[in-house]
Amino acid sequence: MNKRIGFIGLGIMGRPMCQNLINAGYSLTVWNRSQPGIDIVVGYGATAASSPKEVAGKSDVVITMVVDSSDVRQVILGTNGVIEGVRAGMTVIDMSTISPKVTREIAEQLAQKEAKMLDAPVSGGDTGARAGTLSIMVGGPEEAFNECLPILEAMGKNIIHIGANGAGQTVKLCNQIACVLNILGVSESLVLAAKSGVDLKKMHQAVSAGAAGSWMMTNLPPKIMVRDFEPGFMVKHQQKDLRLVMEAAQDLGISLPGASLVHQLFHSVEADGNAEKGTQALVTALEKLADVEVKD
Ligand code: NAP
Repeated sequence: MNKRIGFIGLGIMGRPMCQNLINAGYSLTVWNRSQPGIDIVVGYGATAASSPKEVAGKSDVVITMVVDSSDVRQVILGTNGVIEGVRAGMTVIDMSTISPKVTREIAEQLAQKEAKMLDAPVSGGDTGARAGTLSIMVGGPEEAFNECLPILEAMGKNIIHIGANGAGQTVKLCNQIACVLNILGVSESLVLAAKSGVDLKKMHQAVSAGAAGSWMMTNLPPKIMVRDFEPGFMVKHQQKDLRLVMEAAQDLGISLPGASLVHQLFHSVEADGNAEKGTQALVTALEKLADVEVKD
């Protein structure tokens, strides 16, 4: 509980996660690439540092919540990175969604400084981040997991230690496959309902309480029906995750046709200029195929 926490990456997810850590009584030193994220989180009560290296120097546990494998590499292993300020016995928790392979490489580099790493990607979206109800899937040494569990409990509810480094990221990729196919199913139901002229709200009410109920079915149709495509989770980040899924499928020599189809459909959403919209924008690709708009 008296651990000093460093937090790097103050975007859609990082900001509310910092707020919850501060609410739980932790003192936070933060760094972000650009100023707006810093101003917001300093407003919550955090202290700003000038580099990831300085964050590490002033913390016992450092959390990273950036975007892709190369970004995590940069803030941990790059010039003025966490690794330059890390001390023996510290733990670095990466909560971004990145490659399991790169995770293992970073963990090996940190181990040379006698620091431990946990990969702890999350599910539950920006709403889960705000509510402190994220699902967190963790890879890394069990001892580090047990030590850091109270910190993770300030941000999430369903926190599972899966196995060694990389195992958390692998399970996150499984999660993303299930999520995107769910978004596809939700979107196709809405397109059929709109084209046939049934009441969209009533369709949603009936379907979401039955066997087709899900987080996606509950949360996305109300936004789509009022044409709200602002991001909880951006299309470009979902495409990053699907790229990681495809890389894993390639490495394992397996076929994932459903995930591959949604990856292609999201390319069409990106080509339409909507890479920074929320993933509910998948419906716009299907609307074009059906020549209909899902609007209440
Ligand atoms: P976001 O809003 O785009 O925020 C990304 C953050 O990372 C920003 O603070 C950004 O800095 C920083 N960043 C990116 N590249 C960097 C680099 N090379 N060096 C330093 N800082 C860098 O993204 P997000 O939605 O919070 O997502 C963060 C991670 O959580 C991603 O891996 C995503 O896949 C995962 N995730 C997101 C959700 C969701 O619903 N949003 C759900 C589950 C998991 P700037 O502010 O300067 O741009």
